Amino acid sequence: MAFEPVIGLEVHAQLKTKTKIFCNCSTQFGKSPNANTCPVCTGMPGVLPVLNRQAVTFAVKAALATDCTIARESRFDRKNYFYPDLPKGYQITQYAAPIAEHGHLDIETEERGKKTIGITRIHMEEDAGKLIHDPILAKSMVDLNRTGVPLIEIVSEPDIRTAKEAGAYLRKLHAILKYIDVCDGNMEEGSFRCDANISLRPMGREKFGTRAELKNLNSFKNVEKAINYEIQRQTYVLEEGGTVIQETRLWDPNKNKTTSMRGKEEAHDYRYFPDPDLVPLIVDEGWIDSVAKEMPELPEQKQARFVDQFHLSPYDAQVLTATIDLANYFEETIQGLTNIKQAANWTMTTLLAMLNTKGLDITQSKVSAKAFSSLLQLLERGNINATAAKTVFEEMVTSGKAPRDIVKEKGLEQVSDQTELEKIVAAIICDNPEEAAAYGAGKTKLFSFFMGQVMKKTRGKADPKIVTSLIKSQLSKS
Ligand code: ADP
Ligand code: MG
Ligand code: ZN
Repeated sequence: MAFEPVIGLEVHAQLKTKTKIFCNCSTQFGKSPNANTCPVCTGMPGVLPVLNRQAVTFAVKAALATDCTIARESRFDRKNYFYPDLPKGYQITQYAAPIAEHGHLDIETEERGKKTIGITRIHMEEDAGKLIHDPILAKSMVDLNRTGVPLIEIVSEPDIRTAKEAGAYLRKLHAILKYIDVCDGNMEEGSFRCDANISLRPMGREKFGTRAELKNLNSFKNVEKAINYEIQRQTYVLEEGGTVIQETRLWDPNKNKTTSMRGKEEAHDYRYFPDPDLVPLIVDEGWIDSVAKEMPELPEQKQARFVDQFHLSPYDAQVLTATIDLANYFEETIQGLTNIKQAANWTMTTLLAMLNTKGLDITQSKVSAKAFSSLLQLLERGNINATAAKTVFEEMVTSGKAPRDIVKEKGLEQVSDQTELEKIVAAIICDNPEEAAAYGAGKTKLFSFFMGQVMKKTRGKADPKIVTSLIKSQLSKS
């Protein structure tokens, strides 16, 4: 029997506020343990939480960017459970009345094309602290720096069907949050975290099957791998006549498998109730309008503009606007250039390939947009040819030197002197009379032989356009 996967994702994104959601402590990552704490976020008795207005503004911005309906009135509840990194004994979160609902996000994958994924809700909450287990000291320590950092949780509808679609959804959501600048998106530091819910159902059946929830997915790649593993595992269970049980499973990136963490029996009863220390959150039209006014260009709008303004193909525009950092890099690169299509090609192939093999992000590129732009300018103006430009680029990556200096040092200036090239072409035709005759008799494939000879003679520096016309005209005469 064939099964269809059903997938829904829950994303926790830390908001980029300077201070925590209910107190004035800094949210800065990497401070010494418990440096960013006060009586409020360490859960001392008698203290009162005060909601951070900026956090609400960021949540509203995220809600607008995902086409959610924003609640004019929402509420904070207490989710009660005991855990050492949660000093109050409860987490303040929006449960019954979230700030936003009913949004959506459009994705595209190669195998399944365009698709709209529903967003069930976005709610605000505080993050918990961290436990650090030291196996050598055989001790566990508590760091409350993260306690009270503002989060939004973005819950998707179970509209996703493949691991690739899950990856596309997450990348898009991640891109949007970075475009609107409400989350730094750093997955290694846990600023953007994902849980994946997966179930299988027989093809054609409407009712959902029992789901497993996967935790500990800290990269896009791991999310896709974990989902594929889980689809396989559940398929095997069902094909063997077994039943999938509702449970939380942990992804182990070293063993490439998921293992059970806790079953439904161990699920908590959180005894949610409205937090009596916080008034309902009222977000009026004026507030929403002012956020909407500051909304920057979103990925799809930027893509459309790139097509319009730079005459790029929709595909190229999509690649170049996939992240705000890449889009900004590209726009800085093309300052002062005229051949935008050429700049797009070089960015998408040469630059991205280099970053990819080095495992670097565009923000970590050793070649700055300015330097990349000067290289492309040399190419565009005919100072160097494409082969030389590749050599210069590689040298820029390793030495970080300016393209102009590399060209000088290595003597890579393009030879485009007509008379000089004429002499070279004439000499090569003279040295290879048999090939010249064969070419004249219709063996036009030999053109590349002559081109190769010229490039060899000029050590790859000849202007290929001029050489092409010279070879053709001189051979037709001979
Ligand atoms: P919680 O996990 O906190 O109980 P929900 O029950 O609302 O929250 O579900 C969380 C996520 O699980 C949502 O993204 C939803 O789309 C997804 N989901 C719900 N039911 C299923 C199912 N049967 N199969 C796969 N995903 C599901
Ligand atoms: Mg859940
Ligand atoms: Zn504090």
